[in-house]
Amino acid sequence: MSSDPNAKSRRFPLPLDKLGAGAAPKVREVLMPQRHLREAAADAARQQSPRGLGMDSDSVRRRMVQRLQQEGLNDERVLQALATVPRHEFVDSALAIQAYEDTSLPIGHGQTISKPSVVGRMIAMLFGGATARQTGQLGKVLEIGTGCGYQAAVLALLARQVVSIERLKPLHDKARLNLGAVRAASVRLIYGDGRLGHPPAAPFDSIIAAAGGEDIPPAWLAQLAPGGRLVAPTVAPGGRGQLLVVVDHQVEAGASRFVRTEHEAVLFVPLKSGVM
Ligand code: SAH
Repeated sequence: MSSDPNAKSRRFPLPLDKLGAGAAPKVREVLMPQRHLREAAADAARQQSPRGLGMDSDSVRRRMVQRLQQEGLNDERVLQALATVPRHEFVDSALAIQAYEDTSLPIGHGQTISKPSVVGRMIAMLFGGATARQTGQLGKVLEIGTGCGYQAAVLALLARQVVSIERLKPLHDKARLNLGAVRAASVRLIYGDGRLGHPPAAPFDSIIAAAGGEDIPPAWLAQLAPGGRLVAPTVAPGGRGQLLVVVDHQVEAGASRFVRTEHEAVLFVPLKSGVM
């Protein structure tokens, strides 16, 4: 991977002199709220290696997770996974300093990496599905919208297998690089139109979409295993904004039924058709 001339620098966090008192004012003002900057500098002071080369990203990530917990995310498994995946390795190195704020960030091609709180919330919702409640894990997962691969890496820690589809070739390729770097071996990346799901690997115990469509594509329901749960942003009734929609595949007296519930408002990039 290091032989790839396009591979970005994975140095993180920034050298201590960029975070401490001597930071250039532009970096402070533009990239990071003062409070986070102070926390990061304090972390840096604690985590500094003997040779003073920088800090460990673990502590910055733990702080992010603490904040998410304070804001109501209370599934320990999800918190642990978010504390494990190095989000800074999935964004451009110029944005690495913002990687542990609860914000979406550009990943190129008009797309964004989702906010950690939303990733956490949606995965926690998946854990509420019947099969996941019984087994304590997400089983076989289908993700629509690989993007930079961050959410796929989080899912990989909580699932038996992850199949993730992306329709933009450059992002599909980037995710492959990123996931190689974090050694997320159980993730299978597919370049294709995620609205069609991935029949060869179906059925899935959990389906999660990172892009919002007009409605839930029929293929996703067809590929959702009995006892499985789907979570997807979907255009709200009346066409204003998006809501998180949960669909459970229940089986009663041998007959399938799909139970749909609507949850809070969210803001995701649109689910598009075809590949590019
Ligand atoms: N989970 C991602 C979020 C990426 S943003 C992450 O952690 O970074 C949503 C992604 O969905 C974008 O990359 C977009 O290209 C992709 N997308 C939109 N419509 C799609 C479709 N029909 N099939 C597959 N991917 C799609």
